[in-house]
Amino acid sequence: MHIHRTHRANILNHSQVEEPLNRHGWSASKLWNVANYHSRQVWDNTGEIPDDSDLKRELKTHPKYKGLHSQSSQRVLEELAESFNSWYGKRKNDSRANPPGYRKKNYYDQQGHRVHEEHPRSTVTWKQKGIRHDTENGRVRLSKGANHKEHPRAWEYILVEYETRPDVTVENLQQVRAVYDKAKGRWELHLVCKHEVETPTAPGNETAGVDLGISNFAAVAYSTEEADLYPGNHLKQDGYYFPKEIAKCDDSGGDRATRLHHKWSERRTHFFHSLAKHIVEQCIKRGVGRINIGKLAGAREDENGDSKNWGRHGNLDLHGWAFDRFTNILEYKAKVEGIEVVEVSERDTSKTCCICGREDDNQRVERGLYVCETCDATFNADVNGAENIRLNINNAESNSESAPDLGGDRSTGWLAQPGVYLHDLSSGFQPQAQVVDCKP
Ligand SMILES: [Zn+2]
Repeated sequence: MHIHRTHRANILNHSQVEEPLNRHGWSASKLWNVANYHSRQVWDNTGEIPDDSDLKRELKTHPKYKGLHSQSSQRVLEELAESFNSWYGKRKNDSRANPPGYRKKNYYDQQGHRVHEEHPRSTVTWKQKGIRHDTENGRVRLSKGANHKEHPRAWEYILVEYETRPDVTVENLQQVRAVYDKAKGRWELHLVCKHEVETPTAPGNETAGVDLGISNFAAVAYSTEEADLYPGNHLKQDGYYFPKEIAKCDDSGGDRATRLHHKWSERRTHFFHSLAKHIVEQCIKRGVGRINIGKLAGAREDENGDSKNWGRHGNLDLHGWAFDRFTNILEYKAKVEGIEVVEVSERDTSKTCCICGREDDNQRVERGLYVCETCDATFNADVNGAENIRLNINNAESNSESAPDLGGDRSTGWLAQPGVYLHDLSSGFQPQAQVVDCKP
């Protein structure tokens, strides 16, 4: 089994490579701006956002494209397309959402004439064709963009000598990212390596079900008749705080807005990673070898080509792309523990009772509770969804093999009273405090 690891490396010959790295970082910003302008124009003219393949086709002959190795330029365009995609998802329900900004700072004189412009040093990514790795000597050659090779004596590549933590072996290098650390005023390398590891044994044969949603970011049902809820409290707080702060920024400099966007996205990424880690840990404890996760059928577009299906999940600030992102992280963390993640259809999972299988289009969901008139039971609606996903009710085969025991013996208390984990930036996921009676 292969896994990817990213190692941070210090640059030993920094004074020699700083200048060419700066040039490439600036080139990445310029290409970003050209592609951003182009995307906005297409958006204005057609109401559609070009995707990364449109951008590549359209801009590959643009002079700014040659500021970087072709694979590095492609990465800039992919990143921009991702940003537009995430903005596009948000804008429908959040008028304060801003499209990705330009990476430039302008300076004006007192008459308002621009006297100077500055580009930030964007991260530059090299993929395999742009990398020559000298493992023996801890050096990597990074191909220059054609625009930076003009000087007759200029080298074709930037030769970087790096140093990682002593316990790290850098091999099977897949990607190199040069990242500028503003605080230190230095570049550093992030080295993405492919490692071959033994395929781990699954912790057991049980299946868990994960339902992603808005009122609770995740609900997880286990075959042990236990369920956990992750309300995603700080994710929601951020969803209110950041757009408000970003809206306060004026669009001229865009520096503060860019920083806020960046911070917001970092916090989101951190949340996704901790959540995935926590769920996988719980799965290990409960002998889970397979996680069923609800697939957002037609989240981007339903059969009619419109986006009505945002409905159930997407009426706030998180959208298909966020769920995709989280699912990828979960898949990765689970795989490393030998747990398979399977996307299953979540059709009808919210309107079917997971105990008696009764389907009701008009089922009542009140304050997050699912009310079944047949069982006369009331339980948490998201846990109901997660349990239906765990049972994979849309897969006839799995239904006939393991027909849920519909006898009335099954305890349902766990469906009404799931464990609730709140997330805290410093201590991670903590069970919600219970009211404890003090003994006399
Ligand atoms: Zn029922």
